Amino acid sequence: MVIGVLALQGDVREHVRALEESGATAKPVRRLSEIEAADGLVIPGGESTTLWKLAAAFELLDPVRKLIAGGMPAFGSCAGLIMLADQVADGAEGQQTFGGIDMTARRNAFGRQVDSFEREVLVGGAPFHAVFIRAPWVERAGPDVSVLGEDNGRIIAVRQGALLATAFHPELTPDRRIHELFVSMVKGSQ
Ligand code: GLN
Repeated sequence: MVIGVLALQGDVREHVRALEESGATAKPVRRLSEIEAADGLVIPGGESTTLWKLAAAFELLDPVRKLIAGGMPAFGSCAGLIMLADQVADGAEGQQTFGGIDMTARRNAFGRQVDSFEREVLVGGAPFHAVFIRAPWVERAGPDVSVLGEDNGRIIAVRQGALLATAFHPELTPDRRIHELFVSMVKGSQ
């Protein structure tokens, strides 16, 4: 089993390390053939407009959209959450995503004054020390979306089937529960 980390832009290396610490084999993937060969895909934090433009430039937008719609397990953090959202609020003009999760992600939702912050949130009812960097939140979650995490009433972690997304960056802190969950989701899909 190999988990690919989409290496167009963002904190790829941190996700590779977090996945390996969670018992998976992980590697950066960029070409469609590499993505297709992976058993699961992580979309890192970074900048969703850049991810969108690079994915479009490398002709990955449609193929990856189809892989995800076809059941490929995927996990996105921050900009990766935006890339897995069916709709984006406050996106750039024409901004597109891979989609897959029936939700609306609001970009830069926590406001400009607080570009980044760390605090305890609740994930699966348990405290989780979370790092937020110009983070989105989930403004609307469809009926098939399970809310896994909340911060002051804002949805910041969700799961829909084989898709997992967090508004924060679990790859930047040592707590591996989110990556372990994703690794078990990928194993369970095989
Ligand atoms: N604000 C970024 C975006 O819109 C996300 C930031 C992040 O991934 N840390 O994509």
